[in-house]
Amino acid sequence: MKQTTLAKPIDISGIGLHTGVEVNLMLKPAPENSGYIFVRTDLDRFEIPASVEYISHCSYATTLMRRGVVLSTCEHLLSALRGSGVDNCFIEIDNIEIPIMDGSSEDFVELITTAGIVKQDSPRHLLRILERVEYEQGDRRMSIEPAENFEIDCVIDFPHPFIERQRLNFVFENGSFGREIASARTFGFTHEIDMLRKANLALGGSLDNAIVLTDDGMLNQTPLRFDDEFVRHKILDIIGDLALLGMPIKGKITAEKSGHAVHASLMSKLLKAEHAWEIVESSDPAA
Ligand SMILES: [Zn+2]
Repeated sequence: MKQTTLAKPIDISGIGLHTGVEVNLMLKPAPENSGYIFVRTDLDRFEIPASVEYISHCSYATTLMRRGVVLSTCEHLLSALRGSGVDNCFIEIDNIEIPIMDGSSEDFVELITTAGIVKQDSPRHLLRILERVEYEQGDRRMSIEPAENFEIDCVIDFPHPFIERQRLNFVFENGSFGREIASARTFGFTHEIDMLRKANLALGGSLDNAIVLTDDGMLNQTPLRFDDEFVRHKILDIIGDLALLGMPIKGKITAEKSGHAVHASLMSKLLKAEHAWEIVESSDPAA
């Protein structure tokens, strides 16, 4: 397997979920071994590589920061890039936050499909897990362990009639991300919204870009896209956050009640446990 990038540049506009401001986004082909690099075109093309080392905070969304320059809510776009099998991409953006679109990764996947994906010369690198690493925080836990494929076993549990306990075991293979995960939307509860707005968050949030749950139903008039759309979105977030490891993973994730902060903690614990992984070329027999 070779590394890939986009065949041509392509752009899209939208608003930021938390800032509410209009942003223009352009995805561009990038050289081999560059990974995903955010470029703030409004700040002299300042670059922020999509990497664990630049995670700044992770309440409600994953925010990166390098030398004081911030890039917010990167997870749904990174999920689309990883899920579509793109290894290298420049992500140009003229504001602080990636647009939320419809709250899922679907528009980004369509954008990538429209641009086309091309093979490059270098072999793809994989992060192959050799030993199990676990992170736990109260009743939230997440682990990563050796496996033949990239696989995510995810459980969420919310005391709401539409959610309760949902579990899905997602195996990453050709096309499965687009079919099973990409269109699952983010969700929130009405009782959180006042609190978020007071904290100047969710300013761009609406029924067009989130499932908004009341105590016993939802405000959206359109139906859910899957009965278990909620756990599918959690898997979407996990794929997007774990894209910050910089390469596809050969291993199995198990997540229970996880969130962005737990994803970030597991990744830093994993990276520190150097005996627990190795980087292999996807052409290696071991891979
Ligand atoms: Zn999300």
